[in-house]
Amino acid sequence: MKLKGIGAAEGIAVAKLWRMETVDLSVEHLTDRDPEKESVRFADAQHKATDELTALYEETLTKDADAAMIFDIHRMMLEDLDFCEGVSGLVASGCNAEWAVKQTGDMLHDMFEAIDDETMRARAADVQDVSGRLIRILKGLDDAPPMPKEPIVVVSDDLLPSQTVKLDKKYVVGCVTRNGSVTSHSAILSRSMGIACIVGMGDEFDKLPQRGTVAIDGLTGEVIVDPNADELALYEKKKADFEEQKVLLQHYKDKEAITKSGHHVHICANIGSVKDAEDAKKAGADGVGLFRSEFLYLDSPDFPSEEKQFQAYKKVLEIFSPNQVIVRTLDLGSDKQAPYFNIPHEENPAMGYRAIRICLDQPEIFRTQLRALLRASVYGNLHIMFPMITSVTQVMKSKELMNNLKAELIAEGHPVSDDIKIGVMIETPAAVVMSDELAKLVDFFSIGTNDLTQYTLAADRMNAKVSNIFNSEDPAIRRMIEITARNAHAAGIWVGICGEAGANTTLTPFFMENKIDELSVAAASILKVRRAVCESEG
Ligand code: PEP
Ligand code: MG
Repeated sequence: MKLKGIGAAEGIAVAKLWRMETVDLSVEHLTDRDPEKESVRFADAQHKATDELTALYEETLTKDADAAMIFDIHRMMLEDLDFCEGVSGLVASGCNAEWAVKQTGDMLHDMFEAIDDETMRARAADVQDVSGRLIRILKGLDDAPPMPKEPIVVVSDDLLPSQTVKLDKKYVVGCVTRNGSVTSHSAILSRSMGIACIVGMGDEFDKLPQRGTVAIDGLTGEVIVDPNADELALYEKKKADFEEQKVLLQHYKDKEAITKSGHHVHICANIGSVKDAEDAKKAGADGVGLFRSEFLYLDSPDFPSEEKQFQAYKKVLEIFSPNQVIVRTLDLGSDKQAPYFNIPHEENPAMGYRAIRICLDQPEIFRTQLRALLRASVYGNLHIMFPMITSVTQVMKSKELMNNLKAELIAEGHPVSDDIKIGVMIETPAAVVMSDELAKLVDFFSIGTNDLTQYTLAADRMNAKVSNIFNSEDPAIRRMIEITARNAHAAGIWVGICGEAGANTTLTPFFMENKIDELSVAAASILKVRRAVCESEG
């Protein structure tokens, strides 16, 4: 059976399909519980968790002894003295057992993660797994089926960033979603992982079976369910061709991106983690054009501390030093939600409480991130960029806060670079219209074509039903880019593109005509874009 969706990340994959189910592990903080009853609840949950882990251990042992060991380690962690004492202490003070487990688990998680040793850091994820198991049992919920340890194509209605960060990327070779569009974050993440992705399957999605093999083509959007021998052979050939193309592109790895008329362009990478930075460096990126810092928050059980953020920014800066690293400050909200932010339900979250709006409204959150960034600034070439800007005032307030924090850190004895560049994302029509004024306040612009297309054309970037309207090649979007580039250059600042359109090589000649200075794309697209620039006239 052949089905069709929207090809959102190039690649060919043939593997078992796996339906992702998730369990809600959020917990309430109660302080008026009976300590004795909560202790009994905790002990019961510990027994149940031990039984589950024993069953998993025995089931896995015959297939994969290493994987089975992990369940054994988890069993031991359940009995760990520090963990048990931490929980008992909180329960004795009247807390509910779920909260006590979460707090203790988070504390141990952070402790392991801060250790400068790969093996110990891996324990951080184990602690999270163990406390998650206990919380689920305490909430009376069934376990979601574990992810198989073999190549899989993940199939789900949506693949939210908070779910994607929990996938074991080693085994994911592709993903297929019912909803979403080319610029939804599931597609963006797939591109950064270099795996095939098909989104917006719509009603076709219902025809996918519960289990079986699928062959997917992330360029055309084709999904073949249980392919026959001929189809398998065809996909083998497609895969070989795709790999061959990748090898040919290696020719552009160490080349400078320069058009035929001599315009130089930086080809940078969009990243969401330190691991992405390492991959992007290997892929030949000239720097980082967009570090989506909110992924540090999504990958964390609670607000990531200043120290934790500092370590991540420092590492990314060191990887690329002396080249630029643009860290975009927190762009949470809309489809990127972390439960501990407690953002109430919104009718229209894309236009709601998000990004710079949260940061300026809750300066304590912004402060932690900015302090971490400023402290990391001495380890490389830091550029800080503010997202979702709609006014000059927002930029002035953000800069003022940053300057105050700079003075504070220096007074505390922390060195801070005096050459940090400041930029804004141009991703709202208001920012385009005000770009002549904004250009006077900052060192660079980066055009976020994903949101700019969504807001300019009034077409939800997540909604497959309007994906025919959501088009970054639309004349209205081209005009927005022209205005922004003209105003940036008139003010003597540079302008880049960090939305997904940056990797659309149909648009490369247009970008070059407008003397765009930087294109920031997924690591997997860097060489393709560099070739397109070298082949352009502009
Ligand atoms: C954009 O909107 O184009 C962008 C790069 O940011 P994000 O996709 O994270 O919203
Ligand atoms: Mg955006």
